[in-house]
Amino acid sequence: MRTVFNELNVSNSIAIMGGTFDPIHYGHLVTAEAVRHKYNINQVIFMPTGHPPHKNNKEVSHSEHRYLMSVLATAANPYFNVSRMEIDRKGTTYTIDTIKGLKEVYGEKTELYFITGADALHYIFTWKDAEELLRLCTFVAVTRPGYNKEKLVKEIEIIKKNYESKIHFLEVPALSISSTDIRNRVREGRPIKYLVPESVENYIYKFKLYI
Ligand code: ATP
Ligand code: MG
Repeated sequence: MRTVFNELNVSNSIAIMGGTFDPIHYGHLVTAEAVRHKYNINQVIFMPTGHPPHKNNKEVSHSEHRYLMSVLATAANPYFNVSRMEIDRKGTTYTIDTIKGLKEVYGEKTELYFITGADALHYIFTWKDAEELLRLCTFVAVTRPGYNKEKLVKEIEIIKKNYESKIHFLEVPALSISSTDIRNRVREGRPIKYLVPESVENYIYKFKLYI
């Protein structure tokens, strides 16, 4: 394992922040920190996706770039780590396999939280083995600018009613930032300063990403 992240750390509650992170931005970081604080989480694991089934791989930057930017962005937070679990797995990435893998590593006593933005929760039933996934971990659905809060709350109620699941709603500081917008800005020569950590900004320019 090339990372400083020790998968055998003893931990009682872990939150997984899954994403393409192309690139990671302050919206991801502020969300993860809000969840960590609210649920007294021991460790947040940022999990860059390998080959996501719902994104056109041609448009996604190489996983090493996405992984390294995630490491740079999270390095200063003692509660944050980045896992290579998904990017090192061959084939299509399914969240259910990741959760089962983490359960094996950390044991049944560790409570797993899975963080998902309002947009991602909307598609949860298109995910592989969604029902099992809802049983295996506690979901935290967070608000995101541009996505209707009331609709999110309703979706959570429906999921709670129909499935045996633990799912929370959490309002996080509203940062209207998306990776898509950052990629467009770089392509068009517009600033990305204060939208991503400086280390990530420098990395993007150094490796000429998104141009
Ligand atoms: P893209 O535009 O490429 O889809 P993105 O900004 O949506 O990128 P992802 O890597 O797709 O970032 O998102 C990972 C997770 O973080 C998702 O659950 C998403 O909903 C959540 N998320 C992303 N940006 C924000 C934000 N600004 N506020 C709250 N949640 C966010
Ligand atoms: Mg997205």
